[in-house]
Amino acid sequence: MALVLRVDGDRWRAHLKDVRDRHPGLVPVAKGNGYGFGLARLARKTEWLELDTVAVGTYEEIPEIQQRYAGSLLVLTPWRPFNPAPDNPRVIHTVGRLEDLRALAARDGERPRVVLERMTSMRRHGFSGPDLREAARIVLRDGGVRLEGVALHLPLAKTSHLSEVERLMNDVVGAGIGSGPGTGDLPGGRTIWISHVTEMELELLSRKYPDFRFRPRIGTSLWLGDRGALSVRATVLDAHPVDRGDTYGYRGRSAPRPGTILVVSGGTSHGIGLEAPTGDATIRARAASIARGGLDAAGLVRSPYTVDGKQRLFAEPPHMQASMLFLPAGTIVPAVGDEIDCRVRFTATDFDRVEIS
Ligand SMILES: *Cc1c(COP(=O)(O)O)cnc(C)c1O
Repeated sequence: MALVLRVDGDRWRAHLKDVRDRHPGLVPVAKGNGYGFGLARLARKTEWLELDTVAVGTYEEIPEIQQRYAGSLLVLTPWRPFNPAPDNPRVIHTVGRLEDLRALAARDGERPRVVLERMTSMRRHGFSGPDLREAARIVLRDGGVRLEGVALHLPLAKTSHLSEVERLMNDVVGAGIGSGPGTGDLPGGRTIWISHVTEMELELLSRKYPDFRFRPRIGTSLWLGDRGALSVRATVLDAHPVDRGDTYGYRGRSAPRPGTILVVSGGTSHGIGLEAPTGDATIRARAASIARGGLDAAGLVRSPYTVDGKQRLFAEPPHMQASMLFLPAGTIVPAVGDEIDCRVRFTATDFDRVEIS
């Protein structure tokens, strides 16, 4: 019995095409657990969408993608001298330090394709403004690499990104990338690979910088953007009526009230975890709950499973592949074999199966 991701195939595929059509130059991101779908499936879907480049998270992810997808492979993790760097003309390396650029340019074999990353307010990776200028000089002077543009990884927006992007674009233009003498050698230099900008921001940027091509890298709002097309289903494996005081579980807890212990599929190996306490967990709210004999007062913690219309409490922390829930008396108890809904973080969940209709 399994934790299953069910996908309404027509609706999901229509959403994928819609996102593609609204984002010219779209670069899908296929990394990690494949946003719950798995990397192989995302590779095939990128092929089906007829897109020329996919972004992978790490070099280690390339083998799983490259047999199922024929286009270019942009690696988001910046290259380091200790990384494997396949001599593969389909791979585009991200470079964010001068020493790495020099090391990559000095390697034997093909001229590697590179994107120069400019540091953003994220402060994760990338060149400072002056280092980006130096990087452009190295590319122009040495020619050991083929420039494919500049990458900007922006934080998730609270407000508009435009003023930040405009400041960063001053550095790009100032570095002579995509404009100025010698750029005939750098045709790819006019591409800006950018994440977490809205459709509107993309349009404004394209209008403001007509010499550049902005290519949005999108994962979450592509693969997971239409939640109505996705449902996560667990299966009821067992149900045991209990009286107040009956013991259960690995730790011999006693039932705080009469009810049912419901055993369902899904556990720590799937990424099922304890939910954060609700906002109502102040000392005063807890005291009131204890006074009422509430279940949270008995130390039970919220689970991601829904039964009889309500999100239920774990009877004890999730096990490896199953979880025990506590249903107070009065709850409509589902039958063994019934499916129930489970709310998960897709980027942190390993499903046993993905079923696409
Ligand atoms: C993960 C990642 C993305 C995609 O982020 P989403 O929020 O899933 O769209 C884009 N760019 C970089 C550099 C990333 O690491």
